[in-house]
Amino acid sequence: MAVGINDSTEKLLSQITNISLQKISYNDKLLNKKVNSNFKIGKSFWRKFICAKGCTACCLNFSLDYIPKEFELYIDDDLKDEFKKRKVNVNGKEKIVYSVLENFRDKDKCIFLIDRRTDDKTVPGCEFYPNPPLSCLSAPQILFTSRSNNDTGYLLKKIFGRYWNFEEEVKCEFKEENDYDYSQELHILERFKWWIDYFEIDTMIDEYIHVINNLKERNINKTIELENLDDVRKQLKLY
Ligand code: SF4
Ligand code: SF4
Repeated sequence: MAVGINDSTEKLLSQITNISLQKISYNDKLLNKKVNSNFKIGKSFWRKFICAKGCTACCLNFSLDYIPKEFELYIDDDLKDEFKKRKVNVNGKEKIVYSVLENFRDKDKCIFLIDRRTDDKTVPGCEFYPNPPLSCLSAPQILFTSRSNNDTGYLLKKIFGRYWNFEEEVKCEFKEENDYDYSQELHILERFKWWIDYFEIDTMIDEYIHVINNLKERNINKTIELENLDDVRKQLKLY
């Protein structure tokens, strides 16, 4: 099955446009014509996401990309040769990502899908577990998207847009759970921040992390607005 965008770096940067304070071009292609002026965390974000053990439905044949910091931290020496250095151009600046572009053999499944996951030998899983590429780790629990009619960028949790087209049944679960700590989400947002800092993009990522870290009361039925940017940025000493 073909996925929507096979270049995961393009896909991640396209997601980042939704919380960006500037336009982003990728290899001379403009990814966003407009820049959002409002930013929110949608109700769905507050649900807990559970990836079903043994499910591999979304391990498809998109590119696997790590920025240099992730590559050094997460990829064991015996797997480094699988990756090629790839030059990409973001906002006129040349950067390196480490990529597996030919991510398929005879089937459309990812080549790093192994029969026995390191933490639980009874189930198949990712050879890079627990640190797969950001594009794999983030979907579907961190989704940046936009509603163009109100120039608003949202952080949501949302099932894959084309899940009905996957060959295997998608077993993602989203649950409402009290006292959930959001450490997994914060870890993924920190990795987004690594990407954003590496590609030198001005975004709202610090504000999102700050709000999720500091919210006194997490009401799973409430959309949070990050509209007063000046106040949040002053607290963060960004000005
Ligand atoms: S790298 Fe891992 S998580 Fe990503 S598609 Fe391949 S097996 Fe799945
Ligand atoms: S489809 Fe959902 S449950 Fe299955 S591997 Fe992907 S994220 Fe996990």
